[in-house]
Amino acid sequence: MVEEQIRARGVADEKVIAAMEKVPRHRFVPLSQQAAAYTDGPLPIGQGQTISQPYMVARMTELLAIRPTDRVLEVGTGSGYQAAILGELAAEVWTIERLGELADRAALLLKDLGYTNVHVVTGDGTLGLPEHAPYDAIIVTAGAPSVPSALLEQLAVGGRMVIPVHAGFAEDLRLIERLPDRSAGEEQEEAAPAEGETGRASRRPRYRETSILSCAFVPLIGEQGYRG
Ligand code: SAM
Repeated sequence: MVEEQIRARGVADEKVIAAMEKVPRHRFVPLSQQAAAYTDGPLPIGQGQTISQPYMVARMTELLAIRPTDRVLEVGTGSGYQAAILGELAAEVWTIERLGELADRAALLLKDLGYTNVHVVTGDGTLGLPEHAPYDAIIVTAGAPSVPSALLEQLAVGGRMVIPVHAGFAEDLRLIERLPDRSAGEEQEEAAPAEGETGRASRRPRYRETSILSCAFVPLIGEQGYRG
């Protein structure tokens, strides 16, 4: 899986590669999917949801450039597989899932595998998890109609978010980086946004958005997502 699906497609971060080699993906898929656990695609995990394609997990994780001291938020726990990968790389991981049955199953498995730094929460992740913010990295593993403002607010200065955002018949995977805040005085002097920055640059918090690739995810359902 790692050589053919991940390295061969250009994921080069050795820490991400090591995490993908270490986490036993077969433990995160239902018994009926065991034979397919290391194949090149998403798989059903029940409740109409999926465990993401291994390449997508690796690529999104690499984009987050996680450091060992980072505090990370994942929206969309699903099977818990992505959370385990994050748990290998970060200091603390909070992962939030709207479906209680999936959250409970993932929490049990992550505990069984010894991930004491991964905390599973049941709830609406479109609102983030303000009690543990700010986060150095945020990953959304469901397709959003637009970027939830709550998640932008909970991203630390210098932090990175990856999120699939609705774009026609698929989603556009975006990397959003929070730049150093701009003071009110600087804003007046520098009314026009710098090249490469979005309209969000006119506010005090500044973000840079980069479109990475086209992808397909199950919908992000919640107050700042799609209506369920
Ligand atoms: N990261 C997961 C894994 O490693 O197995 C795969 C996630 S699956 C593609 C997307 C998940 O997002 C589903 O389990 C779905 O229930 C969840 N989800 C959708 N909307 C959500 C929301 N507002 N808050 C939290 N989870 C949400």
